[in-house]
Amino acid sequence: MSEAEEESDGILEGADLCLCCLEPVRPGASLCNGCGAPQDFIAGTLPFLQVLAEGFVYHRAVQTPRSWWSVAGIWVIFGQLAIGGGVFLWWWIPMALEYRDFGTTVRGVPFLAHAVIGVVGIVCTTVNYAVYRRSLRPSS
Ligand SMILES: [Zn+2]
Repeated sequence: MSEAEEESDGILEGADLCLCCLEPVRPGASLCNGCGAPQDFIAGTLPFLQVLAEGFVYHRAVQTPRSWWSVAGIWVIFGQLAIGGGVFLWWWIPMALEYRDFGTTVRGVPFLAHAVIGVVGIVCTTVNYAVYRRSLRPSS
């Protein structure tokens, strides 16, 4: 028996299962090793684990949206980023072209990141939801 199989058996015996991916979870673990889902209340309160737990919610909503409510929520959340970033880029691009210095150029990077993250989040969520809906249709 390999070391990985022994470890797997040790985890399976009497272990809880992750509510998201149904993989066995190591007793006392705050996050699932398989999918990263938070497993206890500590994951929602400790600073670093809280970031991972919130990231899991966004990641799951973008990668596997299962209802229009998820898609609408992502549109609202990521729409703010996209619109905010876009508005600041509309202000920043002419200024960067006029001044052409390093400081002005660097100040636009966060706005560009906001716009890109917002648009990518919306597009990925919508496409993943469309693919999911298409997979529900009976094949003819
Ligand atoms: Zn999991």
